[in-house]
Amino acid sequence: MPVYEFECPKGTVTERIVKVGTDTIDCPECGEKAKKIISQCAFELKGGGWYADGYSSKKS
Ligand SMILES: [Zn+2]
Repeated sequence: MPVYEFECPKGTVTERIVKVGTDTIDCPECGEKAKKIISQCAFELKGGGWYADGYSSKKS
């Protein structure tokens, strides 16, 4: 069973074993919906923004 990390709007990260396809859980801290953090790899790509730079420099 995979372990996923979920982050709620208040920034609390919870590790939880869930079924594949589960996108949100109820945060145990505040009760808000916590969204699944897909993976470490995807997270890094989002933060880096290298692909966005590549597209904009090609245009001009
Ligand atoms: Zn929370």
